[in-house]
Amino acid sequence: MVKFDIQNHNNSTSPVPVDFSDDKGYFVYHIGGSSQPALEKIRAAIGKHTDNVTRVVIVRKMRSVYILAADARAGDTRIAIKGSSVLTGKATIAPGTNKEEKVRFIPLPTSPSPPPPPSGSAWIGVERMVQNSQNPNTPSFIAGLKNSHSANTEIEYRAGGWSTDPIIVAEEYINHLGVITSKDLNVIKTSIMHEVGHVGLNLTDIIDTVDDNTYRGMSENMMDGEGNADSRLHYCPRPLRRDKDRSGTPATEENQWEKIERPEPEP
Ligand SMILES: [Zn+2]
Repeated sequence: MVKFDIQNHNNSTSPVPVDFSDDKGYFVYHIGGSSQPALEKIRAAIGKHTDNVTRVVIVRKMRSVYILAADARAGDTRIAIKGSSVLTGKATIAPGTNKEEKVRFIPLPTSPSPPPPPSGSAWIGVERMVQNSQNPNTPSFIAGLKNSHSANTEIEYRAGGWSTDPIIVAEEYINHLGVITSKDLNVIKTSIMHEVGHVGLNLTDIIDTVDDNTYRGMSENMMDGEGNADSRLHYCPRPLRRDKDRSGTPATEENQWEKIERPEPEP
């Protein structure tokens, strides 16, 4: 069994006010961004620390965005994103504009090998998502962007938390339209375990399937997303949800127990 020792940071149950009014009035996370003004405000509010104890901050609302690093043209199947790494998954390019399009980020094909991305950015493969009018819950994906997008366009990516310093866990998602999606309290609690697992145990996001082979995607157990109250670690190797493991090494699966450092027994 692995036990996380989680303590109240300031022995107070009252919220710490942080003023985000110069942005959108809530926490906006620039994924992979070299400057993180909103995160800096949180760091300042909770005070600097020199110990190596991981802090977890619960924010009321969060919106997460990537920033396009270079112009993208209609038909492109890869785009450059500011920052050093990009997570695979669904995203919305140019949210709220007349060029909005839903896409899925996919691992970049290794052949033919792409040219180096613009400095300070990373390539990601991209497929356009098309909603099935018969069944809107089963989108299909076709290659290539529909629209051209200029550098610095926002790309919205829904996330429940980030394994930053401090770890951020959101109570609610907010999108570009200001639409809020609340999360079940158990999901929020499990998100804490999930993000602490990333930081404390160096675990990677995995995919787990249930007995009837139904893919439950994001909402399962501890290290495969914004899980429910199930916080088991898996001994059997599980496929990774993304194309790389936590250290950035291309990998296909992970045995979570073998990632846990164990002290050598005394002779
Ligand atoms: Zn994760």
